[in-house]
Amino acid sequence: MRVPDNQIECVYKCEECHEETSVTPDWHENNGTPVCTHCDCDMAYDHTQYHPAPKSEDGVKEKFWKLWNELLNTDEGISEEAYEALFDLAHSIDLEKLQIERRRVDATDGRFYIPTEEE
Ligand SMILES: [Zn+2]
Repeated sequence: MRVPDNQIECVYKCEECHEETSVTPDWHENNGTPVCTHCDCDMAYDHTQYHPAPKSEDGVKEKFWKLWNELLNTDEGISEEAYEALFDLAHSIDLEKLQIERRRVDATDGRFYIPTEEE
């Protein structure tokens, strides 16, 4: 079976302190063997893990944008931290739509919200 690189993690172990780290094949190709952050020595290859990517379902995107609207479509707005967390999530769920939706968001005094359209 062929498995995409982004679903594989190579797990390395430090022989000194037994710290574990996992890297993707991509990372490995560019950076070589990982180095232990505690001992500053090369880590030894231990095993490879397979992480199937979660299926991105349209239902999730839809639910996310509903949440986005529920949270931002208010005069009180949400805090910058909350908006950043929401933005982060949007970034990984639906980058395309985020490019459009982010333009509707306004910020005043550190509160983020979608202004009511006046017509
Ligand atoms: Zn170590």
